[in-house]
Amino acid sequence: MLKTPEKIITGSRDDLCCDCSRCLRVRFNESSCSHCQTVCPTAAIALEQGLEIKEDTCSGCLLCTSVCPTGALELSTDFLASVAQLSKVPEPVLGCCRTKEQANGWLACLGGLSDEHLLYLSHRLNGTLTLNLSRCAECPNSSMLPLLQARLDTLVSGASCSIKTADTADAVRHREENVDRRSFFKSFRTSLFQTAAVVMTAGVQETERRSDYTSKRVPERRELLKRVLPLVDQQTKETLERRFLGKISFNETCTACQACAAICPTGALRKNREQPDNPPLFTAADCTACGLCVAFCMDQALTLHTSG
Ligand code: SF4
Ligand code: SF4
Repeated sequence: MLKTPEKIITGSRDDLCCDCSRCLRVRFNESSCSHCQTVCPTAAIALEQGLEIKEDTCSGCLLCTSVCPTGALELSTDFLASVAQLSKVPEPVLGCCRTKEQANGWLACLGGLSDEHLLYLSHRLNGTLTLNLSRCAECPNSSMLPLLQARLDTLVSGASCSIKTADTADAVRHREENVDRRSFFKSFRTSLFQTAAVVMTAGVQETERRSDYTSKRVPERRELLKRVLPLVDQQTKETLERRFLGKISFNETCTACQACAAICPTGALRKNREQPDNPPLFTAADCTACGLCVAFCMDQALTLHTSG
């Protein structure tokens, strides 16, 4: 008898949330941002007419969400709820839609784990977190593996939780066996409550959003970084700030028109209401170095300084 081929499960377009109004190409048609298109392994992103995700081509690897500087593309799942669930389990395992049965929490694809997500996991959890990569090699989204590994290699040291990868199902099971019986059942019960709470509060999955063009918001990835910064020592904080925060300077051609503050999607640049003849006010913690203000300024009055 012929064996029915196993259905290949990957993520899908539904696993990412798209807010076109936050895309730099939509906000300013001279923006040359193409981070999402460059990283997408299936050519599912078109930017000629704004931002378009081709539903039938997108395989849900979520890599685009890990590089978009404005939050135009983000995970549609509630990442903080997943982390809360993982935190209740000793030696938790994070998997994907193909390995969720062998995991305590999961994302559609682990390609969505940006530097900031990994940093947050490593400072919010204790002990060791295992990323279940046991089915990645056979997955159509396997091209995300080198990028995920590169991100793990550059994680700063000194976190409360180390992050390991498991390439085989046996490596994942081995860690589960290390949990003693009593703590296993305690954590299992807690995890059931957590799951129920997440299901009850999750509501309808949102995969499309549209913000008011004037509304300011830092992307989820920057929110995660801002939660990590108070937890690290001064030296690590400075390293992370150098790596992730943009810095803007104004030159003498600035006419204090405040247009850059209006276009900045995150609120890092704010209108200088007290001294309207001076350049806008700047908050580095909210600057994702998207470069939109520099491209938009007709007087070439801004310089963006990054070390990344
Ligand atoms: S990376 Fe984000 S801002 Fe840049 S083109 Fe893609 S969706 Fe737009
Ligand atoms: S200050 Fe400029 S580079 Fe920084 S987030 Fe705002 S627009 Fe982007």
